[in-house]
Amino acid sequence: MIQLYQPLNFLGMIYREIKQSLIDIEAMFAILARPPEIRDAPAARALAIKGGHVRFEDVRFSYDPDREILKGISFDVPAGRTVAIVGPSGAGKSTLSRLLFRFYDVNAGRISIDGQDLREVSQESLRAAIGMVPQDTVLFNDTLAYNIRYGRPQASEEDVQSAAELAQIDGFVRRTPKGYATEVGERGLKLSGGEKQRVAIARTILKNPPILILDEATSALDSHTEREIQDALERVSRGRTTLVIAHRLSTVVGADEIIVLEQGRIAERGTHAALMLRHGLYHSMWERQREAERARETLKAAGEVV
Ligand code: ADP
Ligand code: MG
Repeated sequence: MIQLYQPLNFLGMIYREIKQSLIDIEAMFAILARPPEIRDAPAARALAIKGGHVRFEDVRFSYDPDREILKGISFDVPAGRTVAIVGPSGAGKSTLSRLLFRFYDVNAGRISIDGQDLREVSQESLRAAIGMVPQDTVLFNDTLAYNIRYGRPQASEEDVQSAAELAQIDGFVRRTPKGYATEVGERGLKLSGGEKQRVAIARTILKNPPILILDEATSALDSHTEREIQDALERVSRGRTTLVIAHRLSTVVGADEIIVLEQGRIAERGTHAALMLRHGLYHSMWERQREAERARETLKAAGEVV
């Protein structure tokens, strides 16, 4: 009985916590995903945002004690700037974004925003300051309007609509049977990956956070959709502190700094131009992607289905 009661009790606690917290998708994911040891410090204050300067100082992290994932990572995202993280799969890119959202605490080193250690501020205030556009957006079984308004429940219809316009999803919504009242999800209209991602972008625009984390993951999309999402993301990130995990290198050319992560270490860093001149890892990744794109175009021109 006790064995059954405890998990149920735990679920009940999670449920209450979800209901009580600000209606916020990231907060919900945080509650579900975070290990129990992530708690507010007794004297936790609300994060005070000045410009949103993000700093990683010699950050070390492992999920399992015997395998270190991040091996001393230091970088800054100055207020309003964009830093791109690139590198092979498994390098630790998404782990960096999870640490910034404080799904986990660092094992050593420090992450701060405007000088405030993440472990010293309330999780609620931290997550209110950060907008995350994940690679796999999960929509609620509810209307399109509900799914967008989740970013700011008290938003007006006009605000929802202008966020959708900025995210380039408004045209799609208008072509659905009931527009913003169209039900989506399991029993409703099925959305493609690109459409779901643009709903997430609209939600983030509505939330209007000073700090953004973008996981592009646009490789599965056709190039027209990719272009549209790219435009939408560029619009949201303008003037905001942005950490972007880039899969297509062509999207990071304009970043203020590009960090090449390899097996949990920074292998190279610099602007696109500087990294190309180095003829190192970044340069070879760039060449490989260009070749793959050229091959695809050749196949397309030959009438093959790609
Ligand atoms: P990337 O985003 O660069 O592809 P990740 O940050 O997702 O890489 O993962 C880095 C490493 O950490 C990978 O080897 C991955 O298998 C491991 N990892 C990711 N999440 C977990 C987890 N929850 N538990 C244990 N290992 C994990
Ligand atoms: Mg990843």
